[in-house]
Amino acid sequence: MIEKRDFYINGAWVAPSSPCDHQVIDPSAEEPCAVVSLGASEDVDAAVAAAKAAFPAWAATPPAERRAVVARILDEYEKRKDELAHAISLEMGAPIDMARDQQAPCLPWHLKNFLRAFDKIEWVRPLGPHAPNDRIAMEPIGVVGLITPWNWPMNQIALKAIPAMLAGCTCVLKPSEEAPLNAMLFAEFCHDAGVPPGVFNLVNGDGAGVGTALSSHPDVEMISFTGSTRAGKAISKTAAETLKRVALELGGKGANLIFADADEKAVKRGVLHMMNNSGQSCNAPSRMLVERSIYDQTVEAAAEVAEAVKVGPASEAGRHIGPVVNKRQWDQIQSFIQKGIDEGARLVAGGLGLPEGMNKGYYVRPTVFADVTPGMTIEREEIFGPVLSIIPFEDEEDAVRIANDTPYGLTNYVQSQDGSRRNRMAQRLRSGMVEMNGQSRGAGSPFGGVKSSGRAREGGVWGIEEFLEVKAISGWAPDLAAE
Ligand code: NAD
Repeated sequence: MIEKRDFYINGAWVAPSSPCDHQVIDPSAEEPCAVVSLGASEDVDAAVAAAKAAFPAWAATPPAERRAVVARILDEYEKRKDELAHAISLEMGAPIDMARDQQAPCLPWHLKNFLRAFDKIEWVRPLGPHAPNDRIAMEPIGVVGLITPWNWPMNQIALKAIPAMLAGCTCVLKPSEEAPLNAMLFAEFCHDAGVPPGVFNLVNGDGAGVGTALSSHPDVEMISFTGSTRAGKAISKTAAETLKRVALELGGKGANLIFADADEKAVKRGVLHMMNNSGQSCNAPSRMLVERSIYDQTVEAAAEVAEAVKVGPASEAGRHIGPVVNKRQWDQIQSFIQKGIDEGARLVAGGLGLPEGMNKGYYVRPTVFADVTPGMTIEREEIFGPVLSIIPFEDEEDAVRIANDTPYGLTNYVQSQDGSRRNRMAQRLRSGMVEMNGQSRGAGSPFGGVKSSGRAREGGVWGIEEFLEVKAISGWAPDLAAE
């Protein structure tokens, strides 16, 4: 059993203000694998005070020096990446190969992309030739609170902590109480990389305690949050009292439009993408919209692919999906599957209960529903499990109507070999991102949604600018450089 009760505050591991043990559960075994502490508002006060004290010096550190410090986190990752993958696999159930190949490498991937983006930022830029004495200065916003979920835990920490520090902000991270171990390793990487005391702080805790203390704290200038739409709303309300800036990355209900001229791998790709990470991805293509002329064959093919997806323990190597994160999620997914059945969708793969031969662990059968109609619960709500809904459509107009008829707007997908149709669809789909023909977004592309999927863009230049204030200066002496 791992015991890691301390918080990382002001460059040191310190005991919580009052002891409050919290067991982290290994979802493959349904057994505790670690004990951490849940913090209280006193711990948040101490972390915010450290971040506030560190801010002036860090903000004034020349950008190139900040860049060099943050870049050293890469070296620490390289030394300990296996440990990081193991922690993620253990605490949230990602199969070890997937944790090694997809989850942990989010850190170096984002870090390198952010370093590239950082080099493009013009910290003091001219307004334009019409106003030679005007300058626009980009300045760090101050102390920022970072609140992250468990599903791609290192991905979300890297998308927040790296750009915040590069921008010159100081931060307090509250990772998910379901998956705190990888976050604590990240704190160790920062420490060993020489991030100055107070620049990065970590307090473990739950949403009601540490989450609320952070989002209501008067010395925190901004909250960057990734998680459910429900918690995003709660945080926005709490943060409104102190008029904080709030960046939100929330849920999704992505549509994957499969046209009759889609390439032959499109269906398999869509199903496997849905099942990846046991369906626990905000950008999962959870609604497969299929052109009527290829509907029956697509349903059959999708069911076959889903039936072939193996389910197994996170510690086991190989291509399979692991359990979902906890009992609450498992129960919720089961109740969505039941609703799908009750509301008349046709179950063509998977279904209720544990996969055959399993009697322990939060495993869900890879499930596919056909004949789903707009408005059914499984079509409206984010299930966050390996459950795919297939919906027929008649033509482009119909596809766009169904795809956009959702409160969410994170990622949509289009599969068609007709380039002009793809471009038309890309412009008509209401979402922060559109990915087509299996082409994933390039390095530095902004990640984020519209409508109930949030208000933020992470990654690349946009991700750094989230943490910057814009200052308008007139009367600037144009012949002198900025100090
Ligand atoms: P969650 O909202 O329950 O928790 C996320 C984090 O917020 C946790 O650290 C939690 O402790 C904290 N929290 C919860 N309530 C809070 C409150 N009232 N005040 C402050 N903090 C609070 O979400 P989850 O179950 O951990 O993650 C799953 C959700 O995250 C899904 O809805 C998924 O779509 C979403 N998600 C979105 C993105 C994105 O980029 N858009 C990425 C990953 C996950």
